[in-house]
Amino acid sequence: MLAARLYNNHDLRVEQIPDPPALKPREVRVRPVWCGICGTDLHEYAHGPLYVPKENLPQILGHEFSAEVVELGSEVTDLKVGDRCAVLPHVFCGTCYFCVRGRQGLCRQLKLDGVSWPWGGLAEFAIVPAYQCIPLPDNVTFEQGAILEPVASVVHAVERSMRSGDSVLITGAGPIGQLAVLVCSAAGAAEIFVAEPNRVRREQAEKLGVTAAFDPTKANVAEAVVERTRGLGVDCSIECSGSQPGLDTCVAATRPAGTVAQIAIHVGPRTVVPEAWTWKDLTIAGIWSFKFYDTPRILRQIASGRLPVERIITSKIRVSNLVSQGIDRLADPAGDQIKILVAPQG
Ligand SMILES: [Zn+2]
Ligand SMILES: [Zn+2]
Repeated sequence: MLAARLYNNHDLRVEQIPDPPALKPREVRVRPVWCGICGTDLHEYAHGPLYVPKENLPQILGHEFSAEVVELGSEVTDLKVGDRCAVLPHVFCGTCYFCVRGRQGLCRQLKLDGVSWPWGGLAEFAIVPAYQCIPLPDNVTFEQGAILEPVASVVHAVERSMRSGDSVLITGAGPIGQLAVLVCSAAGAAEIFVAEPNRVRREQAEKLGVTAAFDPTKANVAEAVVERTRGLGVDCSIECSGSQPGLDTCVAATRPAGTVAQIAIHVGPRTVVPEAWTWKDLTIAGIWSFKFYDTPRILRQIASGRLPVERIITSKIRVSNLVSQGIDRLADPAGDQIKILVAPQG
């Protein structure tokens, strides 16, 4: 089968490899339909292997995907061949402290499709545990299904920081920041401010209906936001840039007793001033993954039309062009792409 495999940084090969072997009783074989390119894939390509264990190389990439079920393991009873699914990448034990409390993303033995599990979404076929397959409602498309994994993380971030009627600052308007605009809107934010240096991304956020989108290279975003929130600052901020200025802006622009949700992954250390958190009685929330079994309700929200996640998709490409039309365009700071979906079938 065709698969995109990471051998090392700047060494990603789209190549023929043997088909996956026979299924274990609780596994299913799926045919990925659309797979999103994630910021972590860009990190792996530019600086990796980071989260991919070295001993797993070459690793099939792709952890944001939708798929069709093509074969069932002998003990799988709740899926059928032909089912349309969003595939969540988590491989979890089901018995550790976190799994039994519904926090499978924190499983002590967590593996992820396309990162640390042998199979991934950027291949013609994948073998996954059956529980990863979340059936798509009839009117949810495969494209929307491929966005479930990132939007679920954003829903988790919003539910840890925002209430309806709140004002929100989102720093970074890449795919996660754009999804944050959509989720905050759907969850009843009164005002949404965005800080993003890339003009195309600012304009895209404006199309999604933000109150104001600032260019942090031209404006003091924290001052502008405080001024526009009656001198208080926003009720909460969601840091989606993974940059020092993004984090600093969130801390400075959030009102006392507000919350800063850190969803972007900062690669490497940053400087923080905890005294500023103390004087403002701030809550700093690290956001990792999401509540696995919350995802069907997110799909229902997408099905209702109130969470139009497909609006962040800017291109759809073939896997054979993964680097030239996908990764390279997303890594370009002046680029015009936000979320690129890849057809893994060639
Ligand atoms: Zn991701
Ligand atoms: Zn576990």
